[in-house]
Amino acid sequence: MTRPAQAVINLQNLKDNYQIAKAHSSQAYAVIKADAYGHGILPVAHALSDADGFAVACMDEALHLRQEGIKNPILVLEGGFDKQEWLSAIEYDVEMALHHQSQLDILLTDPCFTQVKLWLKVDIGMNRLGFHFEECDSIFKQCQSANLNIKVLMSHFPCADDIAQQKTEHQFSRLEKIFNQQQIVWPDLVMSSNNSAAIIAWPNVSDHISRPGIILYGSSPLISDNSITDHLSTDMLKPVMTLKSNIVFVRTIQAGESIGYGDSWIAKRTTRVGIVALGYGDGYPRTAPSGAPVYCHNQRISLIGRVSMDMVCIDITDLDPADIGSEVEFWGENINASEVAKLCNTISYELFCQVTPRVKRTYIQ
Ligand SMILES: *Cc1c(COP(=O)(O)O)cnc(C)c1O
Repeated sequence: MTRPAQAVINLQNLKDNYQIAKAHSSQAYAVIKADAYGHGILPVAHALSDADGFAVACMDEALHLRQEGIKNPILVLEGGFDKQEWLSAIEYDVEMALHHQSQLDILLTDPCFTQVKLWLKVDIGMNRLGFHFEECDSIFKQCQSANLNIKVLMSHFPCADDIAQQKTEHQFSRLEKIFNQQQIVWPDLVMSSNNSAAIIAWPNVSDHISRPGIILYGSSPLISDNSITDHLSTDMLKPVMTLKSNIVFVRTIQAGESIGYGDSWIAKRTTRVGIVALGYGDGYPRTAPSGAPVYCHNQRISLIGRVSMDMVCIDITDLDPADIGSEVEFWGENINASEVAKLCNTISYELFCQVTPRVKRTYIQ
């Protein structure tokens, strides 16, 4: 038997989630940066071949898609880092975010850059990328006199994942204000603001091109558990990645004996221990505590002791059918990745991105 650790990626669920995300804007660019959040950028892009477009973080990711024959529109969310990348945008027909004066300076050096489809990004509160609200008018004017092609006015919300914070609608109204001003000069201009959290939680925030990421992969972006709005229930989302492996050895320990590094877990009773071939070397977080749920033979049971690089231990005392060869799910169809993430003080995004290349990805339609 080869090492059984694997991530099963359900591409039908991915497609269904795209349809849910898309139902709330006229267009949706599927965000597939960082190897499609660990799901595999090429299989994901092929499965979403009907998507209005794809968004990636950097030019390398965009060129990889083009070289593999992906024809959909592609947006580079951080724009170009140097002139070469802006030239590549022309050569490979890649749409580019324009968010910083240094980028505009490059675009003004050569009339060829009038060919690039630009997404002008305004900062509405993140203070990371984007032109300041006040300078937008002057940036638009510079672009107009250089004949640059601004296709989209874009922005990104810092706190849309927290429905207790009421900032998002106010921030959107700032974006709309700029949009309404500029639309007079740029009649084909459209707006793009919504990440997954805005799509789910903010029904009054309505843009033209949304940019869903995490909801495509079936996980909720919202930080609170009772996050269901009447707009769109996160229960509708279907998990895409199921991370699993098998029990490879079984042993029994006596009350008082400990498990794993640091003796962090001590048996209170005679305990049957399943040793499962998956650890932090596969991307399962080392911070997962004893008691973290795993799923085996239709039952939730618990991790015990520390996660090591190649293995974890689980308590199978009350699960008679569990034995060598039994399959164990860490997140996916039965265990919500957000639940595991919360126990590890992180978010499902990070769990997905951290699954290492050692874990075989298996794709089902
Ligand atoms: C990553 C990213 C998204 C997608 O965010 P999700 O929370 O995964 O939906 C959208 N827009 C920008 C600018 C991003 O960087």
